[in-house]
Amino acid sequence: MTRRVRVRFAPSPTGPLHIGGVRTALYNYLYAKKHNGDFILRIEDTDQNRLVPGAEQYIIEALKWMDIRPNEGVAFGDGPYAPYRQSDRKDSYRQYAEQLIKSGFAYYAFDTEEELEQLKAVNQNAKYDAATRLQMKNSLTLSEQEVEDRLNKKEHYVIRIKLPENEDVRFHDEIRGIVVVNTVQMDDKVLLKSDGMPTYHLANVCDDYIMQISHVIRGEEWLPSAPLHVLLYRYLGWEQVMPKFAHLPLLLKPDGNGKLSKRDGDRLGFPVFPLEWTDPKTHEISSGYREKGYLPEAVLNMLVFLGWNPGGTQEIFSKEELINLFSLEQIHKAGAKFDFEKAKWFNAEYIKKLSNNKLADLVKADIEKKFGHIATDYLSNVCGLVKERLVFLSDLSNNYGYLFKSPEIYDETVLSKVRSIKDGLPLDDLIQALINGSENDTIAIENKLKDFAVANSLKTGDLMKFIRAALVGELSGPTIPELILLLGRETSARRIENCFSQL
Ligand code: GLU
Repeated sequence: MTRRVRVRFAPSPTGPLHIGGVRTALYNYLYAKKHNGDFILRIEDTDQNRLVPGAEQYIIEALKWMDIRPNEGVAFGDGPYAPYRQSDRKDSYRQYAEQLIKSGFAYYAFDTEEELEQLKAVNQNAKYDAATRLQMKNSLTLSEQEVEDRLNKKEHYVIRIKLPENEDVRFHDEIRGIVVVNTVQMDDKVLLKSDGMPTYHLANVCDDYIMQISHVIRGEEWLPSAPLHVLLYRYLGWEQVMPKFAHLPLLLKPDGNGKLSKRDGDRLGFPVFPLEWTDPKTHEISSGYREKGYLPEAVLNMLVFLGWNPGGTQEIFSKEELINLFSLEQIHKAGAKFDFEKAKWFNAEYIKKLSNNKLADLVKADIEKKFGHIATDYLSNVCGLVKERLVFLSDLSNNYGYLFKSPEIYDETVLSKVRSIKDGLPLDDLIQALINGSENDTIAIENKLKDFAVANSLKTGDLMKFIRAALVGELSGPTIPELILLLGRETSARRIENCFSQL
């Protein structure tokens, strides 16, 4: 019988979700949907010292914005394995740690901080492992009676895994193939901490087992932990239902080697977080794709290609197409270089695909914040005119303010470029021609202006340059007939008069 696909995204709320984390969530989501399986959000917050206020909420909001929705998990609905926040499951882990002690695969360790430091003092590279544990204070070296006394006295202790001395741990990774690590390179990791909380390793394995996870799809930084997890499955008697592992390639800096970091984003001017984030301690603000004016669909399409490719030349894919195409086999082994120019390209493409009304909907709040109330129909027409030229949603309010507010005082550099028209232009005639005109297509308006220039011995180019400057306060922008049709004849005439008076 094939197993139901159940995958999970299991972030630790230690800060804002990095864009690489969003990609991990996305690959899990696509894999689950492709196989009609479940996608679960589990919050791994057992390391209480590293918790950052607001981080869990941020993760949830980011997944919602990206529309990568788990169908089970924190904030997305309780399935049969609730709760999904590990701190709320705190009491369920101890039994497994104790089961490991009983079966000889784990032990109590009572070493103090100083004693642990001592271990390092003798040899910098020393680990708590088969070579050293017999010199330490634990249930392997203390008498049974003493261990019991210490436990009864509620002395601080941790539970550590007891790794074999020299054993190859071998497992299959769906992306990397066979991975072999010898236990000599590993250490007796803590499974249960002195505060009674499990460590990441124990909680992660127990929950994946309990929640019947079929595939663990996570970042490459967790590959070194996988052999330990494999041993935990074995020692707990769960090897038969151990999930398959797939460790995703790293997201790399655009300009060199190494993992993409927040600092790269600051240095090169692009966000590495889906949403803006304000650090609760330092109040430092990190930019987000949402606030920068990205469409979540574009970010999703850009992200999916950082480490996966279905072959072929098509680049724009809907989520449904991606669900159909997605496979673990086509995930790359090598790290994926982040490409900010490509992110912008995707965004521009997705903006072009929006209907005028939808785009108007998305920019309305931003526009009205800057320019006051704007009629919906007008905004929709504006969107139709400039859609092809936008890279970010915010470009509309930043670059096309003149479509919402008349230029008042014209810039001297613009005026100086069109001043030559002043002496030969019969302004009143131009205004009349404009206001009384009834042409309602761009070609007719263009012809009318050309005829006006010829009839008044003006150079067409000079006339057009002047009108454009008057309408937009700049020397470039949409074509003049398009602007006249959009702004209306009255508004256009007033702008022309105003500009002329400043020449
Ligand atoms: N809690 C880990 C993290 O923060 C999850 C690792 C895993 O998916 O197993 O990334």
